[in-house]
This record gives sequence, C-alpha cells and structure tokens, in this order.
Amino acid sequence: MSSNQLHVTFWGTRGSLPTPGRMTEKYGGNTPCVSIEHQDSLVIIDAGTGIRLLGIELAKAVNAGKHLKKIHLFLSHTHWDHIQGLPFFEPAFIPGVQMHIYGSPAREKVLENILEGQMDTHYFPIDMSMFNATLEIHEINAKAIEIGDLRLDWQEQIFHPGGCARYRIRLGDRTMVYASDIELDQMTDPPENFQADPQWGHLDLEERARLLAEFKDFIRGADLLIGDGQYSETEYTNRRGWGHSSIPTVAEIAIESEVKQLAVFHHEPRTSDSQIDDYGRTYGRRFRTKETSFNLFWAREGMTIAV
Ligand SMILES: [Zn+2]
Ligand SMILES: [Zn+2]
Repeated sequence: MSSNQLHVTFWGTRGSLPTPGRMTEKYGGNTPCVSIEHQDSLVIIDAGTGIRLLGIELAKAVNAGKHLKKIHLFLSHTHWDHIQGLPFFEPAFIPGVQMHIYGSPAREKVLENILEGQMDTHYFPIDMSMFNATLEIHEINAKAIEIGDLRLDWQEQIFHPGGCARYRIRLGDRTMVYASDIELDQMTDPPENFQADPQWGHLDLEERARLLAEFKDFIRGADLLIGDGQYSETEYTNRRGWGHSSIPTVAEIAIESEVKQLAVFHHEPRTSDSQIDDYGRTYGRRFRTKETSFNLFWAREGMTIAV
C-alpha cells in the first residue's frame, strides 16, 4: 500500500434501511459507513449498520495486541440509516480507546442529545454511559480539521430533509469527497411548481443555481466522489422531494466537475444486485467516456480502493 494514497473501504452502501438477503448480497445490505485510512489516521464517515463490521475488525486487532488508532467519526446527519450502527460499534466499549464524533452544528437539536436519544431505554436496552471508550462529541466549528496528514473540510447541503453535511478529505494532491443524501435534481431540474413546496419552495432559481455551483466547486477534480445515486431516472419521477438524486444527474454533475471516478452510493432498498448490474451496463455505456477517462461504479460492501 502506497503511503501517499487514501485507502477507502465501504462497510455499508445501502440507503434508508438495511436490506439483508440473497437479492442484495453482492452490493450489500448494510447502511452507510465508509472508512478512510492513511498510516496512523482512521477517519470514518457515518455510522450506519455497516460500522458494526468495521468495529469487529478493529476489536479483533485490539485483542491481538495491536495499538488502536484514534477514531474520528464524522456524521453526515443523524437519520437512522447513518447512526443506527453506533450502539453496535465494539471499540466504543473498549476502555482506553479514544473516539471523536463530529457533526454539523446547524441542527435544531444538539448532536450529543440526538445520539443519546437513540440509546434511550425506549429504543435500546443500554444507554450511552455504557460506552467505556473515551468519547468526545464535537459540533464542528472550524472550516477545516487536520487529522495526521489528512485535511478534512466540509459544507452544509440543503436538499435533504433536515439537512446533511458533505465532507472532503485531502492528502497531498489526492482528494476524495463524500456527498450522500442530497437531491441534486432540485438544482439541475427543479419541479415546475417548486414554489409550492413547503420545504424548499423559498429557494428561487437563482439560489438553486448558486447552490449547484457551490456543490461543483466542492467536488471539482476529486479523484473519488462517493455520491448519492439512489434512483434510476424512472424511479426518481415518483420520489421527487425525498432528498435523493437520480443516477444520471449525479453522473453529469461529476463529469462537468472533472471528477475522475464516481462511486454511486446509498442504493435504494428495493434495488436488487441484478438491477444494479443492469444500471452498471446502461449508465456505464452512457457516461464512461474515453475522452474524459471518467469512471463510474456502484459502491459494494467490503470493497477497498486506493485513491
Ligand atoms: Zn441516508
Ligand atoms: Zn438522510
């Protein structure tokens, strides 16, 4: 493994709800969790059910006498599918482990209260005080955070109910971006009667164009974009306003922003492996071009790539 590369592993790729079973075993049924490793730094983005598997691997390493890296967990937002694995994350129960959890300050409730709420006795048998690791919860107040040689910055994204943060990680000249849970189509192709929409109707066409430009600037030239592509264009017509993008929209924006490769992410729970294989063929033909050397693939649970 090269020391000037980021090693990105997908522990959960499914959107909205875990989907175990034979129809989803190839691309995976666990909800979002991605780890980014570089030397002694371990960054995790999102704590969907996939984080349980990562936790098992980390706990195994501790039991084998290995020194555990300090854990930096960044949450994009606190919808169930992005936090539900946290109570099952084994390192959180290991004394001596240091764990930092970060999230956007731009929410109505305090991040710590939301995470504690998930482990309230009405929802879960044990509460957060049972975590033996040293836990620090931060609402991010800086524009950028440095973790070892990694530089992480972030932005708030609007077109997802309740909001969501996107993250960009840089190592030297390598860049990866995680921008899940956003309905990009609201910016590229707003619905005709968008003013009537109670949640985003106040955002006029000019503001949507500005937000799109901001998104493109954030992902520009990235070596890897992990992007929301929950729906095919046909499915999307029935899911406007649900806060997720159609595959062609995220692919077009990635190409326009000179992204090198797009990992389509947050797969719709009803989409089977064979459907995703079909998407790979159909959209691959449409968007994988020799001229730009753009590549797109569907994120698969267990996959590690060097960026
Ligand atoms: Zn989600
Ligand atoms: Zn969400």
